Amino acid sequence: MCSADTVGRVHAQMEVKGLRKGLVGVYSRLKRNKALRGIGGLMVAVLDGHETHSSYRRHCCGCLQRTICTERGERTQYYHRCVVLMLAGERLRLLLDLEPQRLGENEVATALRLLKRVFEAYPRAFEVLLADALYAEAPFLNFVLSHHKHVVVVLKDERRDLYQDALALFKLEGAVEGRYRNRRCLWWDVAELTSWPQVAVALRVVRSQETYRVRRQATKEVEEQSTEWMWATTLPPTVASTELVVRLGHARWDIENYGFNELVNGWHADHLYKHDPGAIEAFYLVVFLAYNLFHAFLTLNVKPQRRQGTTEALWARLITAELFQEAVFCPP
Ligand SMILES: [Zn+2]
Repeated sequence: MCSADTVGRVHAQMEVKGLRKGLVGVYSRLKRNKALRGIGGLMVAVLDGHETHSSYRRHCCGCLQRTICTERGERTQYYHRCVVLMLAGERLRLLLDLEPQRLGENEVATALRLLKRVFEAYPRAFEVLLADALYAEAPFLNFVLSHHKHVVVVLKDERRDLYQDALALFKLEGAVEGRYRNRRCLWWDVAELTSWPQVAVALRVVRSQETYRVRRQATKEVEEQSTEWMWATTLPPTVASTELVVRLGHARWDIENYGFNELVNGWHADHLYKHDPGAIEAFYLVVFLAYNLFHAFLTLNVKPQRRQGTTEALWARLITAELFQEAVFCPP
């Protein structure tokens, strides 16, 4: 295997356009083979920001910066952040693309740049886009709508007219009982709300009050906990039931749980081989390729009986062992 320095140097010279083409290639092949099934019959993508590195000492032209209050006074911290788009699915998830956030711009502006490229490269990859409350902005929603996609965003801002109007209507409509995984839920669902005139279409708001049991580690006692969620969506009830909107709303976390967590803990993607904006972007795109190929292989090529009782880490090690063997027996 090459040294860490070489990994950094090589990635700094890679052409990101070619890597993105590779990602499109893997997606197209899986799509053609009908391996991508989406959630509840809908093709769904999730968008979110991810901070990759931070440092007080080193910085480059691609760094963002913030002031942090430390014991030694105020200090400037440099960091890198990008917006990532993941194709969500019940059995297979693909990391499609990323866009680095630039100094002085907010995450939504970065996301719009990413989406412009994604809509060109993957015009029919998804019908619904899931995003956090941060993206509940009219220009963002209108941009996605203009590309004929539906949106589900977390609705958090209690000052918003849409939020207040939905709450008032929920009191009149009453809730229905439902279930999400092992949670008992109460669901409210109102459509055709025009309380956000800056958004090009009427919106639907779904609220889910969820109760579940957790065992406290310290006392071993079972406790009931409850959470509440509210989402605004452009999906009409004829396309997505209340239950499906709740499932989609929760799938927004898939990018954290299956994407970022695994990238950091499983693939060590946050390791900085070379502090250079081009190298970081290229390295992440290579990791996306590896992630997609690894999961596609595991999900589609390894028989379920063979996989039973084994961990993903074991398969990663088996693949690594074969790569090493190749390197040893086939010298350059
Ligand atoms: Zn930097």
